[in-house]
Parts: sequence; structure tokens; C-alpha cells
Amino acid sequence: MRTPFDAALQERMMRYAAIDSQSDETSPTQPSTAIQLDMSNMLVEELKGIGAQDVVLTEYGVVLATVPGTADGPTIGFCSHVDTAPAFDATDVKPRVHPEYDGSAITFPDAPGLELSPETVPYLGEKIGCDIVTASGATLLGADDKAGIAIIMTMAEHLISSPDIARGPVRLAFTPDEEIGRGVDPRLPDAFAVDFGYTLDGSKPGEIEYETFSADGAEVTVTGVAIHPGLATGKLVNALHLAAKIIETLPQATRTPEVTSGREGFWHVYEMNGTAAKATIKIILRDFELDGLEATGAMLRSVCDAIAATEPRAVIDCTIRPQYRNMRYWLEKDMTPVELARDACRDVGLEPVSVAIRGGTDGSRFTEMGVPCPNIFTGQQEIHGPREWIAVQDMALATEVCLALEERAEKG
Ligand SMILES: [Zn+2]
Repeated sequence: MRTPFDAALQERMMRYAAIDSQSDETSPTQPSTAIQLDMSNMLVEELKGIGAQDVVLTEYGVVLATVPGTADGPTIGFCSHVDTAPAFDATDVKPRVHPEYDGSAITFPDAPGLELSPETVPYLGEKIGCDIVTASGATLLGADDKAGIAIIMTMAEHLISSPDIARGPVRLAFTPDEEIGRGVDPRLPDAFAVDFGYTLDGSKPGEIEYETFSADGAEVTVTGVAIHPGLATGKLVNALHLAAKIIETLPQATRTPEVTSGREGFWHVYEMNGTAAKATIKIILRDFELDGLEATGAMLRSVCDAIAATEPRAVIDCTIRPQYRNMRYWLEKDMTPVELARDACRDVGLEPVSVAIRGGTDGSRFTEMGVPCPNIFTGQQEIHGPREWIAVQDMALATEVCLALEERAEKG
């Protein structure tokens, strides 16, 4: 149960979680919020302190560093993100440790009534005896992805102090703005300079993921005809009515996130605003296969066309832009990085599992841009909400997998 890494991982998780580094989709800046740099600058100092080399904070907000190799072997990268999700309050996080968890319901001082219990979260019941970290109820914890950073830092520290471990060079990257899909700047893959990499951003021990959604984003703009309602007879064309009809006509009962699972794709309207004169609908389109993604986009366009045909005085525009692609398209051509991580799991006594992620990671973009980059578990659970938690011993398992992977890569 206890490993030599527990104390360092717990200390880092607590310290990192207390730093507010939430990203903001509505901000045009890079990084999207200046507070993320508080975290990044602290990591720069910490990396120098543990003896990492080539430590830089790039102009696009990514912390990069090297742990020089001790032998021949591929250059492997490890990446996690400094930002926490905009989906829930992330200011003034007060992390709490529940040492040697006893299996009872965990309550939260800042949210009476909120409960985290093995009855609703069975995996928590498997963690009796472990040290559990939660927030205080008012905020998310931010184990997504500060657990990833804590694991990578602890691994790097161990490698630097263990010159006897034969392995190639290790590169580290801590990105901003992953949660808003802006973590991988076009300049980053070259600057990372690795043969392949891993994001540390998954959940349960043993998870090695190499499939994500393929993703497009759509924006539908409806321009009606505006006029004073008292003079509107036969003249007003209400953009809000037409926008509502578009949403109503799309397949809500069969193709939305709340009714799909597994390998099914979806469309999801996440923002709608406007006036009677002009309305905008923002929609994300997701599918594991490109033809499925294409079909969902075609369906959206045909619905827009059909509603436009009912009202020739309105103008309906539908623009669809690519966001990221399923990393499997590239990784299945060379599964070496995936197999290496799976073997490393077995080395530490874990059975590897690969499930398709119903989302994207920085690794989706890295892989598409030429750096194969599957995802490794960190232990993070119930992310993006006040019940978010993590077991320190799960983080220790991830640290051991990274170290086993390094040792194997040199031999291979
Ligand atoms: Zn994450």
C-alpha cells in the first residue's frame, strides 16, 4: 500500500491544488488567464530546484524541461496541463487529506449536504486504507490535471537522483489551456523534440488510452428581419424562433451526449444567444470515425437548409471547423508507444485497459501533429465538480508505471 513516492506526491498535490489556474474559453489571450502563469512560473523554479536542465517557459506559455539521459534510448516526453476546468468554481481551493480512508461517507466543510460515498462511487470503496485527497466542497479539486504534474515532477526527481537507471533522455511539458482545447500551440511539437510522448491525464490505474473523439465545432448564425412589434404584421422574421426550430429538428432523443455512450457520437448545443434580429447557436460535433463526424455535420447543414427553406427572408449560415482528430488513426500504424505503456503497467502488477475517451486530450493534437502521444492514468476521479477526489496511492502507481516504461524503453 505505501510506496516511497506517497509523501512527495501528496505534498505536491496539496500545494498545486491550492494555486488557482483556471482557464477561460472566452478569453482571446495566450494563455487564456494570467493566473495560469503563477503555476507555470512556480514549476520553472521547482524544476530548476530538482536539477532539471533546459528549463524554459515559452512565449506561448508552456513549461519545458529535460532530464538528460544516462544511456542510449528514445527521447520520451511526458505532458500534463496546468489549467483547471472552467466548468466549476476553482478559486481558493482548500485541499484536504483523508488519511487511511475508512470506507465511510466523506463530507465537506464548505458544502453541508454534499457527500462522497462508496454507495454512489463504488471505486472509492476499493480505496479503503489509502490516503484520499478532496477539496472542501466549494470548489473542484483540480486533480485534473495537477495529479499529472505531481506524478511527472516526482518521476523526474527520482530519475535525476538515480543515475544508475539506464534510460534515454526525458522531456517534460506542462501546457496551459488544455481544458479549452488550446494546449498544443503549433510551435510546441518541434520544441518538445521527442520520439514519442504520453499525457498523464487519465483516470483509473491501468488505463492506457489511445482513442479519442474526432471533433468539429459548428456555429449557426440566423439573421431575421427586425422591426417594431407594433408594426410587425407580415414583416417580422424572428431569428430566435428559427434558431429554436433548428435545435428542435435535430435528433435530441437519439444523438445528444445525455442519451449516447460507448462508441456513439453526438451533437451537443452548448451555447445559444441572440435577439429577434440575430441569433447564434454553438454546437460541438463528436464521433470516433471521420465518416460519422462528416455525417453529423451534413445532418446539421441539411437541418439548417430545411429551416431556411421555410423562411426565404431569413439568412441561416452554418460554419463547421475541425477541432481535433482521433489519435488512433496515427497510433494504430505504430503501436510501440501504446504497447510500451501496457507492458509497463504489467511490470507494476496492473492489467492494462484501453477505453475510447469520449473527449480529447493534448495528446490528440500532439499525435495529429506528428508526436505519437497516448494517455496514461493518474487516479483522478469525479473531475470538474465539487466531489473530485484522488487516492495518493493511485498517483504512486502512475509514477511507477512511468519509471517502468523508461527502463523498458532503454532495453527495447
Ligand atoms: Zn485533464
